[in-house]
Amino acid sequence: MTNLTMLITEGKGKRLYATDNPDEAIVSYRDETFAYHGLKRGRIIGKGEINNLICEYIFTLLTQKGVPNHFIRRLDNRCSLVKRVEIVPVVVKVRNIVAGSLAKRIGYPDGTRLKNTVVEYCLKDSELDDPLVNLTHITAMDIATAEEIQRMEELSLRVNDIVGECMREISIELIDFKLEFGRYKGAILLADEVSPDTCRFWDARTHEPLDIDRFRHDLGDVEEAYREVLHRLTGNVLKQSE
Ligand code: 5GP
Repeated sequence: MTNLTMLITEGKGKRLYATDNPDEAIVSYRDETFAYHGLKRGRIIGKGEINNLICEYIFTLLTQKGVPNHFIRRLDNRCSLVKRVEIVPVVVKVRNIVAGSLAKRIGYPDGTRLKNTVVEYCLKDSELDDPLVNLTHITAMDIATAEEIQRMEELSLRVNDIVGECMREISIELIDFKLEFGRYKGAILLADEVSPDTCRFWDARTHEPLDIDRFRHDLGDVEEAYREVLHRLTGNVLKQSE
């Protein structure tokens, strides 16, 4: 078991702990889940372990493809060692197909294919419901430079290509996702997670969601959906929880 005593911060799906090395931290993935900015809470049994394994797979793939990220190695079922970055308080959302808040904003039905990839920036501020902002807001607020945002966008589009192709091979469509980035020794690294908690994954044949939308919209079989993504990605069949 990993020694988890020095809590740095606690997020919706993870806890972050300090290690003896100031350049590293431990992410512990949680079964707890939150939607609608904390208004809806629940527990998806097994989610923490599944997301830890999915993130290990995806971050390893991204490293192989040259996308700099915070992942170092998986430590145990629930925990991974990561580089301790300073998170940039801007969330990047990438969209291939209309869903979620974009469907509401532009009035297009869910599932509409977009003519080009859409990139959005949101402030990472849950009290304000992560509002949509543009580059001039970000630079005016002095929370990131134009160069940092340009790098984040470039890396986000590469993640879209790499993860999109990887998912297509296992008959999953990458609808959209959100990413967070961090500063580390003068570079911008992809941080946070890439998992069914942060991406919309639809089965390519049935268009059924295989992600957190199953919890958000009370569709049932949430744990099974997460398990299915892990199984198709890695062949790994985690033992079903009690
Ligand atoms: P939307 O803006 O349509 O709600 O979300 C776009 C994408 O970002 C979806 O894949 C969604 O799951 C993800 N996303 C949006 N907000 C959050 C959030 O607060 N937490 C997490 N984990 N993912 C989010």
